[in-house]
Amino acid sequence: MMMNGKVIFVVLDGLGDLPVRELGWKTPLQHAKTPNLDYLADVGITGLIDIISPGVPPGSDSAHLALFGYDPIHEYPGRGPFEAAGYGFALEDNEVAFRVNFATVENVGKTLIVKDRRAGRISGEDAKELTESIKEITEIDGVEIKFAHTLEHRGVLIFKGENLSHEITDVDPHAINVPVLKSVPLKHAKNISAAEKTANIVNKWVKLVYEKLKDHPVNMKRKREGKLPAQIALPRGAGKRFSIESFSERWGFKPVGIAAGALYKGVARVLGFDLIDVPGATGLPNTDVYAKFKYAIDALKKYDFVFVHIKGTDTLSHKKDPLGKARFIEKIDNALEIIVDDIKRNDELTLLITGDHATPSKIGYHTGHPVPILIVGPNVRRDDIKMFNEFAVQKGGLGRILGQHIMQILLTYTGRALEYGLKVSSSSLRYIPHKWNALDF
Ligand code: ZN
Ligand code: ZN
Repeated sequence: MMMNGKVIFVVLDGLGDLPVRELGWKTPLQHAKTPNLDYLADVGITGLIDIISPGVPPGSDSAHLALFGYDPIHEYPGRGPFEAAGYGFALEDNEVAFRVNFATVENVGKTLIVKDRRAGRISGEDAKELTESIKEITEIDGVEIKFAHTLEHRGVLIFKGENLSHEITDVDPHAINVPVLKSVPLKHAKNISAAEKTANIVNKWVKLVYEKLKDHPVNMKRKREGKLPAQIALPRGAGKRFSIESFSERWGFKPVGIAAGALYKGVARVLGFDLIDVPGATGLPNTDVYAKFKYAIDALKKYDFVFVHIKGTDTLSHKKDPLGKARFIEKIDNALEIIVDDIKRNDELTLLITGDHATPSKIGYHTGHPVPILIVGPNVRRDDIKMFNEFAVQKGGLGRILGQHIMQILLTYTGRALEYGLKVSSSSLRYIPHKWNALDF
């Protein structure tokens, strides 16, 4: 049996879907022509994953934590710190971080109604100029404020000061045609006065942003061009600096990440992955998937766990574009050729392909449906499934498993798993130690 095998771990964001009328009641993954994915399903093992727990719609951050073998309920610090890490902010103890969305709102008297939570996926120069205006807000009630734009409609907000809390509710209602929400302390907040103070500052910040952006020349121009204006920025997912066992400590792999989106870089960075920037990787459907896979194979020389994140599948699902999603899956399948070639020659490589949640393209948001998975490698027990899609894999050999079980399964497939109950390593019960702690004679 092969020992110390290597892994390429591909996450196609929002992969899972439902049958849609316009594709003849097939899912985008069923509709797409995917000879490489089907070949991999044929020579590998397949199944379904409940990423967090059956029926629970995951966020991308908690989903990736689970896929990397962390408990997504007890080890989840909130979204803000991941976004901050992805941007490159190292959080300090007296800071609170938020994920922020540019959004389109309508003023109806004293409330603002959310019309689009992504302001028509605003990006480029428009987002940059609005960001400059938001950055003029540098302090509220003695608390220092930092804001940065990341990708498309996304940004990061950081408060720095004494007596701040992350135990507050979101301003973003996570839905449209409902009001912009007032942030308040969570019921169970440990420090209510800190939570009240922080929530007040968030609310003040959101109002100041609205004043700055509502008649901003960029928004006037967007309206003239028939684009959605971004008159507000909606914070959510408040979180503080936290400590978490690194991925290499927990699983024994030396990991690297290839991702363009700030959140995915952030999750990887927080867990101690190195990151590789790939030219042409954009985090959008126009991304160079082939380049990402090529870099992934090159990275196997230096690393033994390569995480590749591809966002376009989720983006097209949120846009409710099932055909676009199917075409993008075909583009991914095409690019997979290079990995398929490698896996035929490389008997140390295990390849895993899955999604981080379902984003059905007729619904446009994350749901709790389980997600298809396939694994190919030298120690994998092949099953009878010859196609990779939501329906075929229901009968796959992996059955239906939880997201956080995948890493342990990969330890077995890579010949790294330590027999349960052995006490030969102080750091972990899971994998065979790399260094033996020899007794001196
Ligand atoms: Zn996702
Ligand atoms: Zn999504």
